[in-house]
Amino acid sequence: FAALERDDPEIAAVLVDELARQRETLQLIASESFASPAVLAALGSTLANKYAEGYPGQRYYGGCAQVDRAEELAIERAKELFGAEHANVQPHSGASANLAAYAALAEPGDVVLAMGLPHGGHLTHGSKANFSGKWFHPVAYQVDPVSEEIDYDEVRDLALAHRPKLIICGATSYPRLIDFARFREIADEVGAYLLVDAAHFIGLVAGRAVPSPVPYADVVTCTTHKALRGPRGGMILCRADLAQRVDKAVFPFAQGGPMMHAVAAKAVALREAGMPDFRGYAQQTVRNARALATGLAAEGMRPVTGGTDTHLAVLDLRDLGVCGRDAEARCASARIALNKNAIPYDPERAAVASGIRIGTPSVTSQGMREGEMRQIAGLIGVAVRSDPETTGGAGRLAELTEEVSALVRRFPCYAEQEVLA
Ligand code: PLP
Repeated sequence: FAALERDDPEIAAVLVDELARQRETLQLIASESFASPAVLAALGSTLANKYAEGYPGQRYYGGCAQVDRAEELAIERAKELFGAEHANVQPHSGASANLAAYAALAEPGDVVLAMGLPHGGHLTHGSKANFSGKWFHPVAYQVDPVSEEIDYDEVRDLALAHRPKLIICGATSYPRLIDFARFREIADEVGAYLLVDAAHFIGLVAGRAVPSPVPYADVVTCTTHKALRGPRGGMILCRADLAQRVDKAVFPFAQGGPMMHAVAAKAVALREAGMPDFRGYAQQTVRNARALATGLAAEGMRPVTGGTDTHLAVLDLRDLGVCGRDAEARCASARIALNKNAIPYDPERAAVASGIRIGTPSVTSQGMREGEMRQIAGLIGVAVRSDPETTGGAGRLAELTEEVSALVRRFPCYAEQEVLA
């Protein structure tokens, strides 16, 4: 960091300010967490200089002996942690991992059955704005309008009617466990591949806090930067018989040279996730999400599906008469970071939304527990009800900022000397 301060004070200032923002904000964005200083050290290393197209032992560049060791460690750790026959640790992101999975399992024009975007599916699950919706033929399943959970009978009916080549489960804002065995059955019945996009919950799988999709899926894709607490990036797990197809789909089909600094950082995160205390973290993350959802329900926000089994909850704010967009903005002005989110069958457009999404990977990394979740629910309750256009509301939001600061100061996410040394 000293070199950065000397050579580029403007960017050094960005790093200082961003650390301050992370330390001073109550971080409830469900897709974020805090990577360890060891992960960050691998990311900011000389491995970033190295070209290594190919795979360990079969590179298109010389000088790869060291980075080969990093990638082999990452692969072995991923296989062991998740009980997978094969792992590809090169995808630059979750979206890149999904592009490669489509390429490995389907052809352009094939039917792909996946959860609709407004119900929690990701852009890569068939959005018209994305390769998945432009190059493939997406069919969307929705959640049941009453239970708000996946309607497996509807999934089966759609599969029988449309004969997809690929069925996808795994979402960005679905708070419940997914019945992977049921999806496997449906896929087998229609001769489809099953892709589980575990981007959101792979960290909980690593910590044994939720069931693993690995025994059921043909291919599992994920990100490494959410509850897994690794670097930004993606990863693919699959059976040995699909290994070659998956590897070729990542490189050379979807990507060029892997980011070896990120691959090494993934190895570090995978080692950390195999430690006993990571299990405690993953399980506490779920307990915290439940406690926060219960607390928010007491504040008049209805948890979609009635609660959560995972690290996230979606709250319907219609009873409070506040839209998701305004709730997000009000919370942000009190230094609470969360995001607006559509609820199933949302009457509002996505940019407004009737709900918010909260997640607990970050606050749990900081050491917060159920008691703090009850406090946070109260803080969010006040924030959401405080209209900044009124003098009373603006005053309350200013007071809240003090309370939020006092809370996060008790649970610092990083010591300054650890990350800006
Ligand atoms: N799949 C799911 C379910 C996600 O939630 C996300 C990101 O939030 C992705 C894929 C894409 O990951 P990335 O943003 O790394 O491309």
